[in-house]
Amino acid sequence: MKTQFTPKTRKVAVIGTGFVGSSYAFSMVNQGIANELVLIDMNKEKAEGEARDINHGMPFATPMKIWAGDYKDCADADLVVITAGANQAPGETRLDLVEKNVKIFECIVKDIMNSGFDGIILVATNPVDILAHVTQKVSGLPNERVIGSGTILDTARFRYLLSDYFEVDSRNVHAYIMGEHGDTEFPVWSHAQIGGVKLEHFINTAAIEKEPDMQHLFEQTRDAAYHIINRKGATYYGIAMGLVRITKAILDDENSILTVSALLEGQYGISDVYIGVPAIINKNGVRQIIELNLTPHEQQQLEHSASILKQTRDRAFV
Ligand code: NAD
Repeated sequence: MKTQFTPKTRKVAVIGTGFVGSSYAFSMVNQGIANELVLIDMNKEKAEGEARDINHGMPFATPMKIWAGDYKDCADADLVVITAGANQAPGETRLDLVEKNVKIFECIVKDIMNSGFDGIILVATNPVDILAHVTQKVSGLPNERVIGSGTILDTARFRYLLSDYFEVDSRNVHAYIMGEHGDTEFPVWSHAQIGGVKLEHFINTAAIEKEPDMQHLFEQTRDAAYHIINRKGATYYGIAMGLVRITKAILDDENSILTVSALLEGQYGISDVYIGVPAIINKNGVRQIIELNLTPHEQQQLEHSASILKQTRDRAFV
């Protein structure tokens, strides 16, 4: 007699099929990460259009079921990725979006949970740290199962810019951006290295954070979204690839270390705030937050960033 085998679904739902959500869907298909991908948007026609367009490339990709659906389709999803909401207009900061997007999120998260969903939620909408916290509170899910994309994109931008400067493959450049995904983020120079060698050895300095070229690279990282929005109106490919990277770490139970927004509960001496930190990510979400031995200046930058996030969150009535 044949034994029954039920493969794991590997189903992902995306809420919001604008620039970020549709780029995520496109990147998911090209990397063949999931078996099922359901696209949900209050503009149903937009979601349907995206599903049709991507499905027409299926003969060139790994088979995947993609369709425009509804919140009830979240019920058996392993992961829901939220990219819905307002995005930054030129000159607007991410924190300026808080009131509009908190309201939108209260409804979206209730609709997800009403489906019976019991998986992991990954948030990308800005201000991402605050909206991850809203999502955790409204959903009632354990905090390790609500993750914000945090500084995954900022860290990728930083690694790319350093790799370009030092002419070394960005995959061999290890350097974190921590803190708010926004204006108070900071580079962890004390742990930046290329192939196991501390960054200061490459430019022969004892004070890397004061080196003008390095300062410039960090400013280019921190302000990248403003520069891109001024040129093309929005940023989406980089974050979409970052979201796929987190998705893969979850679905493949990778135990990968990625800089995501996670709830601090005493780590770094800080509590009750979602903020960008390196964390081990696997099928349960955030397995562990990595506590780096920060310099006093870096610790002070993290505390400053956390206090700005808390103030903004409290103003938004969370
Ligand atoms: P967009 O305007 O192109 O798309 C937003 C989509 O959300 C639209 O299709 C809209 O119909 C949908 N939507 C709005 N309210 C909804 C609701 N209540 N229910 C369902 N769908 C709803 O915007 P975008 O460029 O895709 O950006 C989306 C978000 O991602 C913004 O907040 C932006 O700031 C953020 N973002 C984050 C990062 C990051 O690093 N975390 C990077 C880039 C953009």
